This record gives sequence, structure tokens and C-alpha cells, in this order.
Amino acid sequence: MVDSFSREITYLRISVTELCNLRCRYCMPQSGVEKKRHADMMTEDEIIAAVRAAASLGIRKVRFTGGEPLVKRNIVSICRRTAAVEGIEEVCLTTNATLLPALAKPLRQAGVRRINLSIDTLDQEKYAYITRCGRLEDFYSGLHAALEAGFKKIKLNTVLIGGFNEDEIVPLAQLTQRYPVDVRFIELMPMYDGGDFGPEAFLPLSRVLECLPQLESVPTDGGVAQLFRLPGSKGCVGLIRPVSAHFCADCNRIRLTADGKLKPCLHSPDEISIKGCTEAEMAEKLQQAIANKPRWHGELSPQHRSRAGRNMNEIGG
Ligand code: SAM
Ligand code: SF4
Repeated sequence: MVDSFSREITYLRISVTELCNLRCRYCMPQSGVEKKRHADMMTEDEIIAAVRAAASLGIRKVRFTGGEPLVKRNIVSICRRTAAVEGIEEVCLTTNATLLPALAKPLRQAGVRRINLSIDTLDQEKYAYITRCGRLEDFYSGLHAALEAGFKKIKLNTVLIGGFNEDEIVPLAQLTQRYPVDVRFIELMPMYDGGDFGPEAFLPLSRVLECLPQLESVPTDGGVAQLFRLPGSKGCVGLIRPVSAHFCADCNRIRLTADGKLKPCLHSPDEISIKGCTEAEMAEKLQQAIANKPRWHGELSPQHRSRAGRNMNEIGG
């Protein structure tokens, strides 16, 4: 389906849970999230109905996210059923990787084709600090499990945070020389409560280019990242700049939260509930959401917080 600004919407990002086994300081509060009533969250059947409705409107790619999608008990079944929906060509997942040792193979067998893993530092103590409770070795076990399960074109997502990991730009980018992965630096987005980081922590991604003058530009793969390559690398270094150079004109996505709200734009307060709807009603509401997708996400800068009204774990980054 094409929205009112001639953008073809082909990509649905679905958050399956707001819960997480980590507590990243820029994403969610230390106390976690207030657990919502089970009855208010999308059931597996409702998620699949939403995918079918979306596919009937031209959605071709689905990404599962969260919170942490791998803490969702039935994630493998949700992925398997989504991959079987007619019209869905690609099922992807974004995860902190820590639960992949048990789940990488089942997810791949269920039809997940691409996974993105989040990693903000290669230092054990800093990893424990930024995640408030994580162990770096669990991330590496997850990465190795994903490679062994046969996942190709794995992308590692790194949020660049001033005063925290700017001194690791070079070693993080060098992961593309050690592993067949892309490393994508993402600008810190000022979400609803901002977590532990204020405007001073925002760094424009031009900092990456300053640190790595040897990066060679390569053609885009059609995604939102500007792509580069280190000499002799197995993967690309990507820059995703939602703040300093937004990509709203090329946005092809719509989102569904774990509590059943369609969000036409990550940073807009607009939400349309599909919880409890039939598949036909979901299709109607999806049409409404796509038709009302805003032209851009509005002013977003270290000083202008997202108007989303939710933290990232409650939307699905
Ligand atoms: N738990 C999974 C993970 O960490 O990959 C999936 C959900 S997480 C919300 C998805 C992505 O959003 C992660 O790569 C995370 O780093 C990113 N993210 C969370 N809060 C962010 C923020 N304030 N600015 C930029 N990216 C953020
Ligand atoms: Fe959890 Fe992902 Fe948010 Fe970290 S970024 S707290 S792993 S949902």
C-alpha cells in the first residue's frame, strides 16, 4: 500500500513483548517495566492475524523485536507461522543475542532469515554497566550460535553514546574484519524518559568517519544505513542517522506494539488499537494507519525529545 506521501509501505515491525532480560540504560528503567495485564497483550493468534492482514495490504517483510523477543515463550512458533503467511518474503529478528545459544537453530529452522544483534561495547565491565546486568560472554556465545546456525548477513547494532563508547569506534568497526557481519552505528534517540543519558551524550555519526578515515563508501543495500567498508573486511560499517539526517522520506515501515497499538511512526504519539479485532478489522485499521502515516517524525534532536510517549522497549526499536 502507498501512503499519502507516495511511500510504499512493505515492512512491519512487531514488538512481541515489552519485557527484557537486560536493562540497557538508554532503553528502559532499572526497575524494568510495569507488567501489563496478560489479557491486554496481543496473543499469538492475534499477531498472526495482524501479519495476514498486513500481507494482504502489501507488507512483505516482518521483523520481530521488543523488549527482548527471545524472552517470549512462543517466539519460535510465532516466527514459524509468520514465515508461512502467503506474501511474507522475509522474517527477521532483532535481539540482544544472549538467549541465542538455545534458540538460534530453532529460529532458523522456523524460517527466520536475518537477525540483528545489539552490542554497544566490547569491554566486559562497560557491558555490565550499560546493560545493568548483562555478561559480555553471553553476547559472544549468542553471536557464535547465530553463525553456527547458518545465519548470513548478521548485523550488529551499536548505539553511539558520548562519554561511553566513542573510544571504541575503531575496535567495534573492526568486528567486520573478524566476523562476516555488518556493524551499524546508530545515533542515540532521545526517547520518552531519556534513561541515564542527556543531550550531552548525543554524538553525530560524523564522529565515526573522523575516527576511521580509511572507510570506503559502498552502494546502499536499500536499507536506512549509509554504508562503508574497511579494507580487507568481511562486512560493512553502516551509519544510521535518525537524528542528524532523518530518512523519513524513504520510510517504508509501520509498527505494532506488544499491547496491540499500530504506530505509523516511531516518534509520533499516534496509535491505533487492533487488540481484540478480527483480521478484517485489523486490515481496515492498518489501512487507516498507513493512510495517516506522518510525513516525518517531527523535530527530533538532543533537545527535542521523541513525541512517541513510550520508551524504546515499549515500542520496539
Ligand atoms: N532487545 C532487543 C535488542 O536489544 O536488540 C530488541 C529491542 S531493542 C529496543 C532494539 C534496538 O533499539 C537495539 O539495537 C537498541 O540498541 C536500540 N535502542 C534502544 N533504545 C534506543 C535509543 N534511545 N536510541 C537509539 N537506539 C535505541
Ligand atoms: Fe532490552 Fe534491547 Fe532495551 Fe537493551 S535495548 S534493555 S536488550 S530491549
